[in-house]
Amino acid sequence: MITEECINCSACEPECPNTAIYEGGKPWTLFGETYDPLAESIYYIVPDKCTECVGFHEEPQCAAVCPVDCCVQDPNFPETKEELLAKKEQLEADKQMSRK
Ligand code: SF4
Repeated sequence: MITEECINCSACEPECPNTAIYEGGKPWTLFGETYDPLAESIYYIVPDKCTECVGFHEEPQCAAVCPVDCCVQDPNFPETKEELLAKKEQLEADKQMSRK
C-alpha cells in the first residue's frame, strides 16, 4: 500500500511488473473491467494486482524506488508467498487479454 506521505513523484508506477500502481483519481482495470480509483490525491496500489513483486524481483520495486519510503506492507492484506505466486499466474492471463 501507499501511505499519505506520497509526494506524487510517479517513480513507482513504471516499476510495477503487474501495473498495480495508479495515479490518484485515475481508474484501474483488471480482466477488461474498469474500477473507480482507490485514492484521489496520491498514487495507490490495487491489492488484487499486487504480488509484492514475487516471481519478478527480490524485493518490491515500488518500495525500492520510493524516495520517501511510503510503499509499505498492507496489514489488511497479509498473503503467503504461495498465494502471491498464484495471483501472479492469474495476472499473466490478464496481461495476455490486454495484449489482444
Ligand atoms: Fe508516491 Fe513513493 Fe510512488 Fe513517488 S514513488 S509516487 S512518493 S508512492
